[in-house]
Amino acid sequence: MALLEIRDITSGYGEVQILWGTSIALEDGKLTSLVGANGAGKTTTMRTVMGQIKPWAGSVWFDGQDISSLSAHAKAEMGVVLVPEGRQLFTDMSVEENLEMGASPKRARSHIPKNLELVYEMFPRLKERRAQKAGTMSGGEQQMLAVARGIMANPIVLMIDELSLGLAPVLVLDLFQSLKLLKDQGLTMMLVEQNVQMALAVSDYAFVLAHGKVELEGPSRELAKNEHVRSAYLGL
Ligand code: ATP
Repeated sequence: MALLEIRDITSGYGEVQILWGTSIALEDGKLTSLVGANGAGKTTTMRTVMGQIKPWAGSVWFDGQDISSLSAHAKAEMGVVLVPEGRQLFTDMSVEENLEMGASPKRARSHIPKNLELVYEMFPRLKERRAQKAGTMSGGEQQMLAVARGIMANPIVLMIDELSLGLAPVLVLDLFQSLKLLKDQGLTMMLVEQNVQMALAVSDYAFVLAHGKVELEGPSRELAKNEHVRSAYLGL
């Protein structure tokens, strides 16, 4: 059963249509990836799910409820959380203050000690640097912090936009590995990625977006063997 579902969404910016009937379903407890070329509409899909862009048509469902018209704030209160592209950290605040800001939804507050322990276990580097200003850390550390801040919101569904962007390959591998720990905790996740190879390697199921439409979907392991995916996205 789908925990979060995007049904036949069309949307765009001003007069420019970007999504042309996109439908995506996230299964409970699974790691799903949304992959595709630059400009395919992945970030636009995320923004539409969160309500930063209003869908022109179609709907977004969470746990059997139509949440299409709710604000991003209301969605976060329900447990639908986005780690945005570009991190959007509070650069003048410390690591720990950023993490505390992440726990702003009411449903997250009583879970602060447990979630802080979890993120420090996942990212020991953040624990070491908990008093350091976020803006003075490396790109990789800031990306860890952005994911950790999302976890502090105590999500039921965590969506991560471009986890690997601009990071060294070895760091990308570490970050992707850490997602497995979250999966073991039963978290439902959606990974939006340009790094198709890595996304298919860690996820259970994947959607391939092209020109604002789902071009292909299936178990990630099968898509990784698909001829079209291999030649168009994996350079094989
Ligand atoms: P990328 O990996 O480059 O972010 P993407 O698949 O996430 O790609 P989107 O960011 O959703 O793609 O962009 C889809 C299209 O929408 C692109 O043509 C982009 O130029 C356009 N677009 C994105 N944001 C805006 C905006 N704020 N105003 C107008 N057009 C936009």
